[in-house]
Parts: sequence; C-alpha cells; structure tokens
Amino acid sequence: MDNSELYRLRKELEDHKTEIEALKSELSVLKSVGSESTFNSFLNNSPSGIAISDENGLFRIWNNRMVALTGISDKLALGKDYKTILNLINQFNIGNADESLRIVEDMLNSIRPDDPETLSAKHKLNLHFPEKGRVDLENILFSFKTQYGRQQACFVNDITEQRKFEEDILLYKMIFENNLDGIAILDLDQNYILSNKAHSSITGYSSEEIIAKKPSLFLGEKLFYEIYKVYDYQKLFEGELKGISRSKSELILDYVLFPVYSENVHLCTIEIIRDISFRKKAEKQVFDAMRKAELADKLKTAFLSNMSHEIRTPMNAILGFSTLLENPDISVDKSLKYINYISKSGKYLLHIIDDIIDIAKIESNQLRIKKSIGSLSALMNNLFLTLARMKEKEGKKTVELRKSFEKNHDLRIYTDFHRLEQILLNLNYNAIKFTNEGFIECGYRINEAKKEILFFCKDTGIGIPKEKLDHIFERFNKVEYSKSKIYSGAGLGLAISSQLVYLLGGNIWVESELNSGSCFYFTIPYIEMEDTEELPVDLLETDKKINWIDKKILIVEDDLFNFELLNELLSETNVEIFHASDGRQALSMFSDTENIDLVLMDIQLPGINGLEATKLILEINPNVPIIAQSAYAMNEDRELALSAGCKDFTPKPIGKKMLFKILREYLD
Ligand code: ADP
Repeated sequence: MDNSELYRLRKELEDHKTEIEALKSELSVLKSVGSESTFNSFLNNSPSGIAISDENGLFRIWNNRMVALTGISDKLALGKDYKTILNLINQFNIGNADESLRIVEDMLNSIRPDDPETLSAKHKLNLHFPEKGRVDLENILFSFKTQYGRQQACFVNDITEQRKFEEDILLYKMIFENNLDGIAILDLDQNYILSNKAHSSITGYSSEEIIAKKPSLFLGEKLFYEIYKVYDYQKLFEGELKGISRSKSELILDYVLFPVYSENVHLCTIEIIRDISFRKKAEKQVFDAMRKAELADKLKTAFLSNMSHEIRTPMNAILGFSTLLENPDISVDKSLKYINYISKSGKYLLHIIDDIIDIAKIESNQLRIKKSIGSLSALMNNLFLTLARMKEKEGKKTVELRKSFEKNHDLRIYTDFHRLEQILLNLNYNAIKFTNEGFIECGYRINEAKKEILFFCKDTGIGIPKEKLDHIFERFNKVEYSKSKIYSGAGLGLAISSQLVYLLGGNIWVESELNSGSCFYFTIPYIEMEDTEELPVDLLETDKKINWIDKKILIVEDDLFNFELLNELLSETNVEIFHASDGRQALSMFSDTENIDLVLMDIQLPGINGLEATKLILEINPNVPIIAQSAYAMNEDRELALSAGCKDFTPKPIGKKMLFKILREYLD
C-alpha cells in the first residue's frame, strides 16, 4: 500500500466518520422527539389546550394550556368524562354547561369513526371569569384509533380576540349598511367596490349595479371630471352637487369625498352622499315665505304711512274749512268754495274707506258677485260721462278721452254691472291720474271664438317701470317715481280690480313702458242675452222732477247731521217728513201718524235698535216699506236688515241719485 492509497483510505474514513456523526446526531434528535419527555414538554408548552380521553371517554391528558383556558386543574379533570367537566364549569359559574353539553353531544354524535370526513368537529363556547371577563373558546374534537381502542382528543384555542374582531366587523358592516347617508367605497381608479342601502335608494342604482362603475353614473361625466380632476386625495372634498337618479329625477346632494390611508398607502376613497332635495325645497319655501312676509310687512308699513297721509289730507281739509265756515262774516262765494272742498274731501275719504272694505271683503271671501242682464253700451256711456267729469276735476283738460266701442249697438250681457263699472272706473281713474298729456282710450272688443269680452284702458302717461310690473296687482303697491312728486292713492285699486276680474271669471294684465304709457287689459265671459229678456234699470236714467206732495216719510235717525242731510236732499220733492231719533219714538210716531208711506230706518240706534224697531213697525203695518241705512256696509248687515223685514238696504252716507232711485221704487 503506497502512501497515496493510505491517504485515500484515511480520507474515506474521515468522511464516513463525519457521516456517522451526522447520523448519530440525527438519531439522537429523533430519539428526543419521540421521547416521553419531549411529548410532555410539547403538551405543556402548546399554545392550544390539549385534552385526550381514553376509550371510555375519561380524560387522560389535560395540558397546562387547558388548565389556563378552562380554569379547571389537571387534578380535577383527569379521570373525568366531559359531562363531569362541563358540570364543574357550571359549578364554577363560568359557563353555560347545559348549552355546552348539548353542543358537545351533538358533536360527538356527528363524528363517524368510519368516515374520514366526519372524524372531527368544531364548536365554540364561551366562559365568564370573574377577573378576565368573557373568554371565547374554539374546541376541535376529533376521534382517532389506537391499539387501545377509539379515543378522543380536544384542541381548545382562545378566540376571544378573533371574536371581538369579528363582532367589530359585523358592527361596522351594520353601521355601513344601515347608515342614513349613502356610503360607497371607491378603488384607486375611482371605480365603486361597495355601496350601502342608502346609496342605492338615493341614486337608484343597487350595490350590484354600481360595482366597477364610476360616480359619473349619476353625477354626469362633466361634473365627475370637474371634481375628480382636481381632487388630490389628501383631504376632504365637500360640496353641494346636482345629479340625476336612475329614474331620471333630479338629485341635490351633499357630497363628501375622503381618502383612506394605511401607513401612507392610499387604500381607497370613501364617498358619502346625502339627498338634500327635500331640505332644499323646504329651505326655498321658508325663504320664499320669509321674503313674502318681509314684503308684506314692508307693504303694510308703507300702506299705514300712506294711509295716514291719505286720510289726514282730506281730514285736514274738512276740519280746516269747517272751522273757516264758522266765521259769520264769510262771503257766500268763499263759503261755497269751502263747502266744495269739504264735499270733495269727504268723497275722497269715503272712496278710501270703500276700498278698504272691499279689500277686507275680498280677503275674507265675503264679496258676493251679483249678476244681472244689462246693457253694456249704457254702462260705457255712463262711464264716459263720469270720466269726463273726473278729468275735469283733476285739471287734465288737454288729455283727450277716446271711446273705442260700437256706440250704436246695444249689447246686452249677463254680468255684475256694479263691479264691472268699479273695475273700469279704477283703471280709468289711474289713467287720468298718471297722464298729463296725450290721450286715454277705453273700450272693449268681443271675441266670439273665446266667448269673452276684452276691455282695455290705454294711456300715454308716465308708464310703470318693468321691475314693478309683476307686482302691480298686489295690495299696497305703489310706484315711487320721485320723492318730490307723490301721487295720491292707497295702492288698493288694482288689487281690488284684479280680484273682481277673477271673481267675474276673467283675467287681467298690463303692458307698459316707462314715460310712454300703459295699457291695462281685462276679460270677462261673454254671455249675450236675447233682446226679449228684461232689461235692468236703465243705467243712464236721469232724474226727472219728482213730486211727492201727498207722501209721508218717517226718517229714523239719531245723528242730527245725517237727518239734516236727508231732509235737505228730499226737500225738493215736497214729501212730508217725520223725524224720530230713536226706536221707541219711531214706534209711537208711526202708530200716531196715519198713512206713513215709507220708513228710512237707521240700524244703529240707542235703546231699541233699528232691526227691532223694524219688526215692531211691521207688526203694526206689515205693508209699509222700510229701507235700512247703515254706516256698516258689510254684507251681513244687509242680510240682517233684509231678514228683519226691510225692503232694501243702503250704505251711509247715501248719495242723492241712489236715494231717489230707491224711493221711486216705493213712492212712484
Ligand atoms: P293707487 O290708488 O295708489 O293708484 P292702484 O292699485 O290703483 O293704487 O295702483 C297701484 C300703482 O300702480 C299706482 O300707485 C301707480 O304707481 C301704478 N299705476 C296704476 N295705473 C297706472 C297707470 N295707468 N300709469 C302709471 N302707473 C300706474
């Protein structure tokens, strides 16, 4: 054997030695793993609770972790079956043994030793320790076969943290799902990953439909790009946006967007939407109502100060000129002039009061329309006579008054003539008031096709500013042209006129240009009447000389001035006048005087009032006509008077024309 051979053999021996060493250490490792001490160490250091029962179901192994998890020592547990253990748990008051027992039995029953699929079962139970509180355990039970027979092993793990985590997730899921705001989660490409119920009910798109789509679905492409182009995913975006729902209805949304980061990594973006359409509508309603209330308040204040001015001016004239009239040395010319001023102011005051009463009646729905058959041409002719007088009084001599209707055609229609005349007078009076040169043209056209009459009143006056046109028919609206030129008027005429037109069944509107003039139009239904139908009292009827020399009238009036006025008005008729200043006197005068032809009865009387006196007089003579008079011109006063037996009712102060018209009905 040479040296090299020896060297090779030695080398080989060395290699085998190393191999043997390695095998030795492997053998010792294997020995130690399989050894009892390794097994015991494995059991007692295991993070899972391990318990093994023998073929009789009695526990033979109960490791340290099992003690820690259940609170039952190995001394107590070993040699016991699971029922006893569960009873112990019950005794220690840390768990619901009955429930656990049921679960374990179910599990044991479910284990089929021959079926590898069902050799194990899993269940959860919880224990309540006085110090630790609730502990959740998961128990994996499995059955295995040994040379000693079939045995069971339990692996028990503490899943309290996991359970808490799962519960938290469930809670968050519920909060997410049931949130009243629409919530959706978007990925980094702005595609939806998830959306909740409210999101679906707001947008109309279900969570399945929305997945992988972008918010442009309901925001529209334009708005979507406007928002997302500038959004930097660093902070919150908040805005009020408009969108379109799946059913194509408009959405007004409170829109919030914010990114979610975890350790500086952008995970997703949250979109929160809230439907504020309803709130917006309500806000608008409140805003509108507030504006209306403010406007009404302003108008009322303006009305009150205007009213104060409108009432004070004629009152000052009445009081001032009355005082001047007290001077016995005053000339006849002057006194006539003052009386004229007083009468004019009185009429103006009455006009304002009439307007206020009309507006009150309209607002309380008490204004009644009384339609009758009559001649429209007669009404127009009469109107123009009045307008000519008005124009004269207002000193508008240079303003031409133009008629624009068929003068010879006697058109008979069915409407409320009194209210129609009131509207025409209001419009034309305004035209006269606001026109200093040019003309005023008033007339009507029949529209056979629409079955309506179109009235118009055109002037070349100061006109109405565009911004005022929309509100000109509202109460108390006056245009303030300049501080220096204030036009008289309470701002009620157009409001009353427009309401009357609606009550008559028509429409009213205006066209106007500042400094050029205005044209008011209104329509009423055209109901033409046959010629054979009875004409109402002729509106153009003029007073013919009356002679009631053989007639007797009893005037019941407590106010001396009012009596004087009536006495004066009736003096030219030669009628014999009796005066009673209260109800009782009226009664005795009526029974003491033979053949009284008519009674003019004031309603507000001291003692027996006018209504009672009427009833008592009618008991004496049921045929005597009694005409009621009252300063309260409301509808119910009329009705009360008529139901007390009065033949007619006139508001105070009564004009000569009206007084004669009524009296002629009973005395002629
Ligand atoms: P008033 O009694 O104040 O005239 P109205 O209701 O009749 O009340 O009119 C309201 C306002 O409408 C007037 O104050 C005036 O500013 C404007 N107006 C009405 N008619 C005319 C018109 N023909 N030309 C110019 N302005 C008018």
